[in-house]
Amino acid sequence: MIERDSVLVRSGDRIEHLLFPLSGAIATIMELPNGQTVATAILGHEGAVGLTSALGASRSPTTAVVRISGAALQISPAHFLAAQHRSPAITSMVQVFTRSLLMQLQHVAACNALHSVEARLARWLLHIHDRANGSDLLPLTQETLSELLGVRRTTVTHVVSTMRASRALKSNRRGQLEIDRPRLEAVACECYKVMSRRIDRIVSHGAVGLVHGLRRGAPPARLGAE
Ligand SMILES: [Zn+2]
Repeated sequence: MIERDSVLVRSGDRIEHLLFPLSGAIATIMELPNGQTVATAILGHEGAVGLTSALGASRSPTTAVVRISGAALQISPAHFLAAQHRSPAITSMVQVFTRSLLMQLQHVAACNALHSVEARLARWLLHIHDRANGSDLLPLTQETLSELLGVRRTTVTHVVSTMRASRALKSNRRGQLEIDRPRLEAVACECYKVMSRRIDRIVSHGAVGLVHGLRRGAPPARLGAE
């Protein structure tokens, strides 16, 4: 299990595990030296934490925090690399997850520069809601929203009250946000739909490639979840 609010790895730490979520949502957070933070991606079952270790990195470029609890498989980088060398299917999966993450990072960079805090908050909430097993109650405090958005708590308070007024947020009590999904979609920038569509396309094409790879006789190397 990966529990809400747990920090899976901190920026600069040695990557001890690759972690493959089966459910739940994980935010990758960039922490600047002055203490400011901003989210760079939300990962679910279509992603992995510590993936850069499969590309040769030994330390994590970002901090990864669980936002929605879930289940996950984990494996050491050494075991994963050994499995990858034996299996084109695993190499293909690394490529799919890396392409999906790169697309998300590039889009988030554009969104952060071009779109309002309100639209960006709506987008993050929709990404998290997609991985929240259908619940409209998201366990997010204002401090968490400030960390995701890279803005002060006072700005978060203002944006949340604006979204309460437009009823995109139905309530925000005791660290839980209740969302109205259709209204939230109306507030979010177009980035949400574009990113979701592109992630789906990359992952579904990758899954087809994976199946074809296995059919061609590539041995489905065991991940050996630890
Ligand atoms: Zn945007």
